[in-house]
Amino acid sequence: MKRVAIIGGGAAGLCMARYLGAKSRMFNYVIYEKGKGIGGTWAYDDNIPSLKYGHTGVEDLKSNKDIHSSMYKNLRTNLPKHLMEFPDLSFPQRLKSFVSHKDVLAYLNDYATHFGITKQLRLNNSVTSVKAIQTKEKVSDVIWKVSSIAENSNAPIEEAFDAVIVCNGYLLSLSFFYSSTIGLLCIGTSTIY
Ligand SMILES: Cc1cc2nc3c(=O)[nH]c(=O)nc-3n(C[C@H](O)[C@H](O)[C@H](O)COP(=O)(O)OP(=O)(O)OC[C@H]3O[C@@H](n4cnc5c(N)ncnc54)[C@H](O)[C@@H]3O)c2cc1C
Repeated sequence: MKRVAIIGGGAAGLCMARYLGAKSRMFNYVIYEKGKGIGGTWAYDDNIPSLKYGHTGVEDLKSNKDIHSSMYKNLRTNLPKHLMEFPDLSFPQRLKSFVSHKDVLAYLNDYATHFGITKQLRLNNSVTSVKAIQTKEKVSDVIWKVSSIAENSNAPIEEAFDAVIVCNGYLLSLSFFYSSTIGLLCIGTSTIY
């Protein structure tokens, strides 16, 4: 059984979890999510308009640790729901094609519930470092030490994994990642890095 850490509980992290969960004899996973809920970018926060420059640039977001989304209040998707949805779960039929951000967040929560992802979530847990420790001579023989810190705690917890999947979105940095020799898989908008 391989242990896998997924960093980020947005659309990309949930999708990874769904497919690892489908091979539950091979993989055991946890999702670290620094926010209080899943959904990533789709977790709209009313505080957005109060940011310094009156808009939500990356600098605004980086300077406000509590907000990880540039979603705005009346946003509707720019893709029809049939193109946005995962292949194995449809948006509710009653919704029109271009859904609101609330509908997307509800959909992602339904997806997590439907595929049993919810119980593997570590909410309010921010990953602070990921280190590859070589265990044998081959570069590929490594374990990954993941340190995370829970909200309202000063003491990081370190756990070991066979693999780490980075799904932290494009708004946040990879500064927690310490490895120069090992390939790194980023999916979702994280691939923009
Ligand atoms: C304004 C706006 C409108 C958009 N409209 C559309 C649209 O209409 N259609 C469409 O298909 N796409 C749209 N997108 C693109 C959207 O980014 C993707 O749909 C998708 O939600 C990206 O998912 P993700 O999981 O890659 O990243 P994110 O949603 O950003 O999720 C990343 C998650 O990782 C967590 N995280 C980051 N660092 C850490 C850490 N160190 N430890 C623990 N957790 C961490 C974050 O808290 C977050 O929950 C839009 C994006 C924006 C910003």
